[in-house]
Amino acid sequence: MSITVQNISKRFGSFTALDNVSLDVPSGGLLALLGPSGSGKTTLLRIIAGLEVPDEGIILYGDEEVTHRSVRERNVGFVFQHYALFRHMSVFENVAFALRVRGWKQERVRQRVGELLHLVRLEGYEKRRPSQLSGGQRQRVALARALAAAPRVLLLDEPFGALDAKVRQELRQWLRLLHRQIHCTTVLVTHDQEEAFEVADRVVVMNDGRIEQVGSPHELLQQPASDFVMDFLGCPDYSI
Ligand code: ADP
Ligand code: MG
Repeated sequence: MSITVQNISKRFGSFTALDNVSLDVPSGGLLALLGPSGSGKTTLLRIIAGLEVPDEGIILYGDEEVTHRSVRERNVGFVFQHYALFRHMSVFENVAFALRVRGWKQERVRQRVGELLHLVRLEGYEKRRPSQLSGGQRQRVALARALAAAPRVLLLDEPFGALDAKVRQELRQWLRLLHRQIHCTTVLVTHDQEEAFEVADRVVVMNDGRIEQVGSPHELLQQPASDFVMDFLGCPDYSI
């Protein structure tokens, strides 16, 4: 399922959080939104998800306009930085939640949760509570939960932001492999260049509610389109 963002603007009072933003995420792609804090990444992701309505512009999933559709209707899976697992529920029940809401029968739920825990390499952890898991394991449960009902798109907002450097590194590699397996169209928000470059094949650099540049990590480093991109990526300045 491709995602098209067309001329999106969003204001909060007199403050312009997004200013005429357009971009495409090809079906099955993994795109990173990279930029400093306050550049509008989360706002854009929330508009793509249906958690926020833009003032101008439209969002398409494939050929279908979804700008005013609810999150539920869009069938989106999310993971946020501060994992919101249900504390009183086991790993199994956390992952099963979206399936139970949809009225799946127990046997099907058991099978699907088994598949997902295999996918995120947490077989044998079914009975644990979130408090009995490491931060990295919790984020993998959050990802399994987000994927449970086979979402059309997967949206990740700084999903590894609260974890330490070593675990982040492992989870990045793991996410890239997972994406190769499931091919779900994915948008990853991060302020961490290394993370964006390692995980995504296309990176959108944002600044002040606008897109500065879209390209592969190689293109961004070789041909930064603006001083901002050059500074933000820390490109060597050959002119000196
Ligand atoms: P990022 O995720 O890149 O850090 P955000 O999209 O969260 O940026 O925010 C972009 C800007 O919009 C920030 O200056 C933020 O303070 C502002 N903003 C975001 N959401 C709201 C809101 N609900 N009300 C007012 N201002 C907001
Ligand atoms: Mg944010």
